[in-house]
Amino acid sequence: MEKSFSFQTNLLHNKWKIDEQTGAVSVPIQHASTFHQANFDEFGKYDYSRSGNPTREALEETIAELEGGVRGFAFSSGMAAISTAFLLLSKGDHVLVTEDVYGGTYRMITEVLSRFGIEYTFVDMTDLHEVASHIRPNTKVIYVETPSNPLLKITDIHGIVKLAKANGCLTFLDNTFMTPVLQRPLDLGVDVVLHSATKFLAGHSDVLAGLAVVKDKELADRLYKLQNAFGAVLGVQDAWLVLRGLKTLHVRLEQSAQSALKIAKFLAKHPKVEAVYYPGLSDHPGHSIHRYQASGFGAVLSFHLADEEAVRTFVQHVKIPVFAVSLGAVESILSYPAKMSHAAMPKEEREKRGITDGLLRLSVGLEAAEDLIVDFSEALTYVKTSEAVS
Ligand SMILES: *Cc1c(COP(=O)(O)O)cnc(C)c1O
Repeated sequence: MEKSFSFQTNLLHNKWKIDEQTGAVSVPIQHASTFHQANFDEFGKYDYSRSGNPTREALEETIAELEGGVRGFAFSSGMAAISTAFLLLSKGDHVLVTEDVYGGTYRMITEVLSRFGIEYTFVDMTDLHEVASHIRPNTKVIYVETPSNPLLKITDIHGIVKLAKANGCLTFLDNTFMTPVLQRPLDLGVDVVLHSATKFLAGHSDVLAGLAVVKDKELADRLYKLQNAFGAVLGVQDAWLVLRGLKTLHVRLEQSAQSALKIAKFLAKHPKVEAVYYPGLSDHPGHSIHRYQASGFGAVLSFHLADEEAVRTFVQHVKIPVFAVSLGAVESILSYPAKMSHAAMPKEEREKRGITDGLLRLSVGLEAAEDLIVDFSEALTYVKTSEAVS
């Protein structure tokens, strides 16, 4: 990648902008599962598509460049990327995990890794003392999401990396909410960056994909072996869709984040909204740490209404956003963490984390912010406040 260009330009003018063989301005989709070996003794660059495929490789090299890593890996979903990264652990190892981690990651750790003798502790990562106090001699990974899902809590990446390095642990960071447009964790010392590329990177609610990027060559070799051994690789059509989505990543995120800030400010002033969680609001407890480690606040926010009844009424009356699982798309997506992304988490654990029955998460898309605000404002007129309820 040309270092002299900005990130926005590099999204388009990279090594893959023109196919060397044909001059095509779109990466060719190579469907072959296997590759003829012209030489009996020496195999070519590609032999079998699980081990390597040129279309997948284009995506893997692109994300590695964007995140500033040495190597990228594309998987069949975000969970496939995350699960494969966890295979770096062995029986007897311990992992420290942010307490409001993505629901699927919570399920993977508590229901699957635990069966293989991998221990875990969930901690409030906004509190570095708390993190430090839970590091054990066998702690091998500190797993971070910042901003976290769905409460948009901010973890001090530098602080965690320092603790991890001092204790011989690796740091994994799920960068789905920020993308390398807004946050580049490898530059801050993180070892493995993970993505659900299903979300902002692909951006159109039409593909499932996951990515991992590492900065260290030896770690890259280990993760490559796991990717090939476990085999949850991304298909070529889907790799192409993610590459296509990446071309507009910067402009999509910029636009959606601008709208998210406007909507967060509107909700924060609304009498029927009890709390708004968005790192772009100056009274967000992680605002200044986030400003230090990222270059924008992203397009996801969440907010509290009085209770489940209020949420139900709001969702029934709101017209623009789709009501669905997922985020990071061209259309705004409203979701209900208690019954969607965090349904895998027991109610008691959920509520301990502040993911109550009154919480809604909004991923802001590319609609006019003014239209969304009018839509929300109208839907809120039907909602009762907690005082009115009691
Ligand atoms: C969606 C999501 C995942 C899981 O990704 P899939 O592509 O759905 O498997 C992981 N982490 C975060 C933060 C997510 O939003």
